[in-house]
Amino acid sequence: MLRTGLEGGSFAFLLYDPFSLAIWGATILGFVLWGRGLFCGWLCPFGAMQEFAHHLGRALRLPRIEPNATWDARLKWLKYGVLTGLVAILLTLPAQLDKAIEVEPFKTAVTTFFVREWYYVAYAAGLLVLSMVLFKGFCRYLCPLGAVMAIGGLLRGRDWIARRAECGSPCQLCRVKCNYGAIEKSGAVNYSECFQCLDCVTIHERETACVPKIIAAKKRAREAAAGAAPVGVPAE
Ligand code: SF4
Ligand code: SF4
Repeated sequence: MLRTGLEGGSFAFLLYDPFSLAIWGATILGFVLWGRGLFCGWLCPFGAMQEFAHHLGRALRLPRIEPNATWDARLKWLKYGVLTGLVAILLTLPAQLDKAIEVEPFKTAVTTFFVREWYYVAYAAGLLVLSMVLFKGFCRYLCPLGAVMAIGGLLRGRDWIARRAECGSPCQLCRVKCNYGAIEKSGAVNYSECFQCLDCVTIHERETACVPKIIAAKKRAREAAAGAAPVGVPAE
């Protein structure tokens, strides 16, 4: 699409694949409503494969690797570097672009179902093996399409994930629970990294999960218990 836009060709080829066109339409609408999460969290088949691989890794009791916050923040910039590299190749060596976009294993894993040259298969399968120990490592750190989605997600018109005054200060529960490292220490959601898994939304809503709600419920229970305690019988 980018090549067609730059070279001034016709976009009519999109009509040959109405299903993909519908996905793109939904994704662009999703940018405005929720940010990148609709595509990255709910529509991307390679993302789903990585998530499945990670569950398999848990079932096999493999160790889980999680970069610390500093490295997580650094690694997240890699995908923008990969995207910049692809755009540079498009502008300077367009004949090499078809090979370069294989950094995105979508064609191997989804379009050809792993039936093609061994090195493409080894690359895509290697990323899935990596996902068994590093949760969706390709999605979070390398995917150039994810970088495009994060940039497109800047069109988001609202902050749709509810937060409380206690989020971030003092409560860090949702930040710790977010598998994508998409919640800042301040409690704010970084929508460019949010895959819309809804874990923090569930915690926020649940009386038995959200820390201020638990504390308030305990306080109410203590007050109720104190109010119901038998009052001493006055002496005659
Ligand atoms: S548990 Fe509740 S207060 Fe704590 S970060 Fe999550 S939504 Fe905010
Ligand atoms: S836990 Fe919340 S912030 Fe993190 S990815 Fe899921 S929806 Fe987004």
